[in-house]
Amino acid sequence: MSCDFIALATPGVQGLQPYQPGKPVEELERELGITDIIKLASNENPLGAGELARQAYASVGSDLAIYPDGSAYRLKNALASKLGVQANQITIGNGSNDILDLIGRAFLRPGVSAVFSQHAFVVYPITTQVAGAKAIAVPAKDWGHDLEAMAVAVADDTRLVFIANPNNPTGTAVTESALRRFMQSVRDDVIVVLDEAYFEYGLGHDLPDGVRLLDEFPNLVVTRTFSKAYGLAALRVGYSVSQPAIADVLNRLRMPFNVNAPALAAAEAALSDQAHVDETARINREGLKQLAAGFKAMGLSFIPSYGNFIAFEVPVDAMACYHGLLKRGVIVRPIGVYAMPRHLRVTVGLPAHNERFLSALSATLGELS
Ligand SMILES: *Cc1c(COP(=O)(O)O)cnc(C)c1O
Repeated sequence: MSCDFIALATPGVQGLQPYQPGKPVEELERELGITDIIKLASNENPLGAGELARQAYASVGSDLAIYPDGSAYRLKNALASKLGVQANQITIGNGSNDILDLIGRAFLRPGVSAVFSQHAFVVYPITTQVAGAKAIAVPAKDWGHDLEAMAVAVADDTRLVFIANPNNPTGTAVTESALRRFMQSVRDDVIVVLDEAYFEYGLGHDLPDGVRLLDEFPNLVVTRTFSKAYGLAALRVGYSVSQPAIADVLNRLRMPFNVNAPALAAAEAALSDQAHVDETARINREGLKQLAAGFKAMGLSFIPSYGNFIAFEVPVDAMACYHGLLKRGVIVRPIGVYAMPRHLRVTVGLPAHNERFLSALSATLGELS
């Protein structure tokens, strides 16, 4: 008899469910033997990476024996000058999920709590659970963060609050004035993590820019990523901007060389390619309109989104609808794990992708109802 290794894991780890990513295209090809599949399941950039990032990535390929710059000097400085902050305020992570994990490991433990919203990004409950801390999930309002209720929910033992703006998977966003009121009401020893993974898509709307609020609210940590609008999800680069003392804490915990050399180079190049981000945002705005019009034409309700995805509600079993779409070569994301069992989430694609998704959805609903 071998020993019960799961019982040896920490209580927090024993209670975890593995993260369920969007279904990879190759997996669906293997399972159904079909080709010409489109994946609109992981909020990836349908334009891909920009040309400058691709070139920078390729140029590092000749030096595979050399460790990356563990201090990410060049990327941090490029970010600092773009964002108008000091380089010692920045922490670079293997995706922003790495940063969220560092924050959880640094500040959470059994006996303390973290506050986040119902239907908020799934990494917050995971991080809290791993640390053995108590999760305080606050009911959503109109699918989005109810910041007034979250302020009330902050307890004496609360160390962290997570706010996703815009939020995944609902696409909802909080306004600058609501965020300011929240920050003014919260104790200064409660660290507030403002997850701006979709920041670039929200520009042009009246959403707060977390980096601009850092001087006023020293307990704020803003996280951003190169995975979404910058189109570098494969490379895993994200970062946080905070007071230097918080960056110092995260830097103590960060594994040496947590971001690889091609990723650092590509991210630095991507940062200078504003045209690619602008084009990405433009295509996304058009795509959101196209999808919204399609949902309206089918009489489906959906949650208006500030991100590059839309959660929509189906009048049939959502998993049956998901499988019907798979059969037609379209991968979307079930979001039952977010307590939204009647919704599916679709990522905005290129116009032809969106069209194909809408007609596959219409055919699937016709078949199921
Ligand atoms: C995608 C996403 C992230 C970032 O993922 P990384 O690829 O690890 O940078 C962070 N927060 C939210 C809300 C997301 O949807």
